[in-house]
Amino acid sequence: MTVNETHRLDLRSWVPSASDADTDFPIQNLPLGVFRPRDAGESWRVGIAIGDRILDLAAAARSGLLDGAASRAGSRCASASLNGLMALEPVHWNALRVQSSRLLRADTPEGERARRLEGTVLLAQADAELALPAVVGDYTDFYASLAHATNVGRLFRPDRPLLPNYKWVPIGYHGRASSLVVSGTPVRRPHGQVASDPEGPPTFQPTARLDYEVEAGFLVGIGSALGDPVPVSAAGQLLFGVCLLNDWSARDIQAWEYQPLGPFLSKSFASTLSPWVVTAEALAPFRVGVARRAEGDPEPLPYLLDPIDQAEGAIDIRFEVSLRTRAMRDSGLAAARLSLGTLADLYWTPAQLIAHHTSNGCNLRPGDLLGSGTISGASADARGCLLEITRRGAEPVRLPNGEERRFLEDGDEVVIRAWCERDGFARIGFGACTGMVVPASRPSP
Ligand code: CA
Repeated sequence: MTVNETHRLDLRSWVPSASDADTDFPIQNLPLGVFRPRDAGESWRVGIAIGDRILDLAAAARSGLLDGAASRAGSRCASASLNGLMALEPVHWNALRVQSSRLLRADTPEGERARRLEGTVLLAQADAELALPAVVGDYTDFYASLAHATNVGRLFRPDRPLLPNYKWVPIGYHGRASSLVVSGTPVRRPHGQVASDPEGPPTFQPTARLDYEVEAGFLVGIGSALGDPVPVSAAGQLLFGVCLLNDWSARDIQAWEYQPLGPFLSKSFASTLSPWVVTAEALAPFRVGVARRAEGDPEPLPYLLDPIDQAEGAIDIRFEVSLRTRAMRDSGLAAARLSLGTLADLYWTPAQLIAHHTSNGCNLRPGDLLGSGTISGASADARGCLLEITRRGAEPVRLPNGEERRFLEDGDEVVIRAWCERDGFARIGFGACTGMVVPASRPSP
């Protein structure tokens, strides 16, 4: 994916809000999602966020606004998921992006035609419902932030925070796809086994240590065949796009259950995805070299090492987490920032994660989701979960209205936002990934 006409800073759209200084969705972004008009009884379809509107790609295809390879892509847009589009080749994704850009530009004949059909192809985001962008068959969550692994490891093993495998093998586990929910869905506080004494016995109760984890969600486009490892030099081609992911975690349930097979019910009660997928092509200007490894760190094994991936395989995306409690909402206070980190810090690139995932012959399918793992940085203001920020609850975080939090309370709303910025290019954003904690259900007697 290289920089092309769709990334030009001087592009202007006939959709006025696409030029707002603070929009996440300027014409250089063009993220894909699944929507339908609210309360209209219509079917879900694929669209592109532009300013505060949505370009209805299914309607654009029906109206004859797409041709060639883009028309093949357009034929997959009358769908309740992006999977059909993801299964096409990158040449179709590229054609759809180039033609959508021209349709939305103020200075092209294509834009002129689309503008005449504005009532058919454009909808206000405020009048739309958004769905999960993909049918996710499999969800794998990695642990690719060295700072996160070190901070968490230090809480449990102060003398030896990192296990000896960390710098060799991308650590991950299989997450739960069925409980992925779209941004805005309330998250119910889960019950589980909690043992205040590690020797037990446990009690079955609502978690008292509910946490969030700020992550990037890498969505797979074209998959890979069972038995065929994907070389790291080709693995980047499998990345369709990136969305925001909140991997809600119940730390007390996790502490009791995670040995010896890893997290299970402490994670599988809900994971929240943002509705808009920023495509790999939109991210082309924000590719950067991998973060330099510390002196003495091993070089990645050959199956994870590719010079081009090392030079430009990381992505510089800033991730911000903020929190709004019920009391803050009641008094009209804005959400308060808890952290600001960057994806560029990850120890492994998306291509390395994909290559590693397939290295044993495991296949990936269109719509599969790979979580980056909690995105934390070296500095104290870049810790991507409350476990790290409050040091396992020992040092509560103080909010602007005087409230304190060790872990999440009922009524708390967690908001993740992310964006890319670079001189010479338009700032593009990811929208929001939000979720509010609602009280635990009463267990049946
Ligand atoms: Ca996680």
